[in-house]
Amino acid sequence: MLNKVLVANRGEIAVRIIRACQELGIKSVAAFSEADRDSLAVRMADEAICIGPPPPARSYLNPPALISAALITGCDAVHPGYGFLSENPYFAEMCTDCNLEFIGPTAETMRLMGDKSIGRQTMRTAGVPTVPGSEGELKSVEEAVELARQIGYPVLLKPSAGGGGRGMRVANDESDLVRAFPTARAEAEAAFGRGDLLLEKFLTKVRHVEIQVLADKHGHAIHLGERDCSAQRRHQKILEEAPSPIVSPEVRERMGRDALSGITSIGYVNAGTLEFLMDQEGNYYFIEMNTRIQVEHPVTEQVTGVDLVRWQLMIAAGERLTLQQKDITIARHAVECRINAEDPERDFLPAGGEIEFYLPPGGPGVRVDSHLYAGYTPPGNYDSLLAKIITFGETRDDALNRMRRALHECVITGIKTTIPFQLVLIDDPEFRAARHHTGYVAELLRHWKEERAATLV
Ligand code: ADP
Repeated sequence: MLNKVLVANRGEIAVRIIRACQELGIKSVAAFSEADRDSLAVRMADEAICIGPPPPARSYLNPPALISAALITGCDAVHPGYGFLSENPYFAEMCTDCNLEFIGPTAETMRLMGDKSIGRQTMRTAGVPTVPGSEGELKSVEEAVELARQIGYPVLLKPSAGGGGRGMRVANDESDLVRAFPTARAEAEAAFGRGDLLLEKFLTKVRHVEIQVLADKHGHAIHLGERDCSAQRRHQKILEEAPSPIVSPEVRERMGRDALSGITSIGYVNAGTLEFLMDQEGNYYFIEMNTRIQVEHPVTEQVTGVDLVRWQLMIAAGERLTLQQKDITIARHAVECRINAEDPERDFLPAGGEIEFYLPPGGPGVRVDSHLYAGYTPPGNYDSLLAKIITFGETRDDALNRMRRALHECVITGIKTTIPFQLVLIDDPEFRAARHHTGYVAELLRHWKEERAATLV
């Protein structure tokens, strides 16, 4: 087993990793930036070490600072969490070169899946259906136009190196595409350091359905069913659930089989997620693979009873994945709401301030993953996630009714949060009937805004 793990991340995921370490008797070291000196992770870990000033580029995104922190504190492994360096193959390689176990797949598989065009090609070769689109990166605007003529509008330009829903552009016709191409390229260059773009058919009224996988170093892999993340704002997930209300057991089995043939074709190790878009007819198309733990992993944990972060640590330590596919049953329904420091009444403007009072919800069927405490001021340098509230029950309605109760019970004062909008979403009739799609939250927000404007008049 591992002895001591450097937690190369912050916020709720750092707390989540520390908890898993504690339960396994592994020591943890919180790597923190100067802005995170007062963080809960620093208080909870066995040790803590400062890795630099607040800007991510000089701390959480700075491999030499993290590697030195791990070596100085005598760690034998590094958990990258999500975001930051979690999908950076160079960082994984540096860890390996310094005799540190990187808790994730090999640098080689990360390189394959980190590039959306290569990822798509790899999956297509393994027989996994992908969205119609470019074979590799686009060489020119002329190539994009020619391809769009073949597959039909609307089309989507996507940065190959993209993530977090950033830098994507929809084009409804040729003049749109010609105009969007240079902007998308410049945006991708600025955000990800690489301007490579790919083009895909833009699928409308689709669901985002993703498959969780676990694979050990001995060639054994399983899938843990799907999560539905169709409730999105600006291509970013805001509410996730498991199982997907539109996936039948047959489709689950087929998707799971496809996901496993995809990952075995690349010798994938550790936890990972294959993301798909699903149309009204139940056809699904691979869009990308995330080679790390995801924000929404708790819904899978709650419906399968499998502790994914614990398995990440055990797999990294070389242990065998003792779970077989037949052991995985989806017994309940779970929902996760992301509570962000944003003001939904002011177009989700980032909110700041000190948390004056904090009372997380409790009771049956409720889990809260958060780094908040009363008196804490979340630094403005990082993402706005404050807490994840997860509720579960026998049916989807049970889980959602419980979520309503939990959101009402949750008290966070001193800072604006997205709770008021989450309450609207979970009781929206279309959402309740599971008829929503990836563009639905935008529609709902428009109505919500109009209604509030009308009541103000
Ligand atoms: P990122 O890595 O930036 O998160 P993804 O490829 O995972 O980008 O896509 C994020 C979201 O963008 C998806 O969940 C979906 O809502 C939307 N999206 C991506 N590709 C397509 C597509 N071809 N058609 C329609 N929507 C898409």
